[in-house]
Amino acid sequence: MACDRVRPLLPLLADGELSLTRRWMVSRHLARCPDCAAQLEDLQTMRTAMRTNLPFHQAPPDLAARIGNVLPREMPPVPIGRGSRLTLAGRTFAFAGSTFAGALAGVALTFLVMNGRADDAMTQAVLNSHVRSMMADHLTDVLTEDRHTVKPWLSARLDVSPPVPDLAPEGFPLVGGRLDYIDGHRAAAVVYRRDKHVINLFAWAAPNTADAGFRQEARQGFNLMTWRHDGVAYCAISDLEADQLQTFSRLVAGD
Ligand SMILES: [Zn+2]
Repeated sequence: MACDRVRPLLPLLADGELSLTRRWMVSRHLARCPDCAAQLEDLQTMRTAMRTNLPFHQAPPDLAARIGNVLPREMPPVPIGRGSRLTLAGRTFAFAGSTFAGALAGVALTFLVMNGRADDAMTQAVLNSHVRSMMADHLTDVLTEDRHTVKPWLSARLDVSPPVPDLAPEGFPLVGGRLDYIDGHRAAAVVYRRDKHVINLFAWAAPNTADAGFRQEARQGFNLMTWRHDGVAYCAISDLEADQLQTFSRLVAGD
């Protein structure tokens, strides 16, 4: 990601409004770009300063009443009668809240449009899972280089028996395995490595589906290879070069 693509995302990051994938990509950029990192820090400092230093004023009663009149109908009714300051504050806050939610929805919508809506759910699920596995420090449930440990561990917990070939001689050492969910399916995630790149190989049961050859896709900085064989769906994902991921996938498929 280049600086000019990262900059517009920084306010969203500071607001906690970035998707997991974007967050990961931006944080990767920030780790090696002091300029963007400094800009994010400025944003955060300004935000904190605004939150703590801006004066708050009590709304005059007639203003609060007018705000009350324009509250959207779906807002739960605010009890009137006691005319307490709490009620007024509650109304003002609710109004500000709904405006803020509207602005957020606008941002989210713009963002969806930017991302393109053609994303198919499965690919997105794989992508999210891959990113989550690296961010959440939960790459593996079984950490071992021994495939004779990983395979039975996964087989015992799943309705598929994922292939766990020894690819260390080819330069893809095994890291381990874990259980995952892809788009509502219980899936095996077999984790391999190529230099510093992590490869997640997902496999889940796809009974009564025809075999399908390799399909390559690039999305949000990651490469994916999907295929189906013998009622099992496979997807390998990594930030490896596409041709290396292809080599990996062919080795796994025994192609
Ligand atoms: Zn930068």
